[in-house]
Amino acid sequence: MRRILVAGNWKMHGSRVMVRELLQGLLAGAEKETGADLAVFPPFPYLCDAQAMLEGSPIAWGAQNLNPVGQGAHTGEVSAGMLLDFGCRYVLAGHSERRTIYRESDEDVADRFEAALAAGLEPVLCVGETLEERERGETESVVDRQLAAVLDRCGIEGFARAIVAYEPVWAIGTGKTASPDQAQAVHSFIRDKFVSQDDIIAGQLRILYGGSVNGSNAAELFAREDIDGGLVGGASLKAEDFLAIYRAAA
Ligand code: PEP
Repeated sequence: MRRILVAGNWKMHGSRVMVRELLQGLLAGAEKETGADLAVFPPFPYLCDAQAMLEGSPIAWGAQNLNPVGQGAHTGEVSAGMLLDFGCRYVLAGHSERRTIYRESDEDVADRFEAALAAGLEPVLCVGETLEERERGETESVVDRQLAAVLDRCGIEGFARAIVAYEPVWAIGTGKTASPDQAQAVHSFIRDKFVSQDDIIAGQLRILYGGSVNGSNAAELFAREDIDGGLVGGASLKAEDFLAIYRAAA
């Protein structure tokens, strides 16, 4: 059986003091085993604190991005090997803010996904449509294109050790959550795409929903057949709010 994963994307928020307090709060609450997995994605400079405080705990950690080049003259960038030095298990690939603000193309996202796998990290591939694309009826074709870029590069085998996060762009940070029916419809579309290539990998693949998840809507979302957890932004920045989602996953 798949285990629900509740993952917190802290984006470029916080300070070292805030991150340490948040980690302490999560450690206190995560001791109560709920049967779900918990992970946090702090900004790069705080991965060192995450490793020091979370090692040996039930909470995993990962990074929000990587540069697919292993080493070299890439000022300001961080490689997969560097993330491994700080004990990361996961790395996000293709978060919508990376795709829109930093112009990462489907190919760039595939590069990152491939580099993460090659290094032994578990990539979390983020896909999702904008409001305009949804209104034009293009949700499935956009998600299909974003998945295909990575499937073409890494094959279905690449998803044996990866996670997909469906994050409709119109629901991220807006307080507008996709309804459980809307989310389930896209999750099932995603799973079906994988089923056609390998039903075992497809059955085990965790597909997270992201977009204004909170303690009040999480249980209903996670109850749906193909929603295997959440990628949580805003509500992961306060220990009590994030733990409420974690408890909803029980
Ligand atoms: C996100 O950052 O991936 C996200 C889903 O944010 P929020 O939960 O704030 O919508």
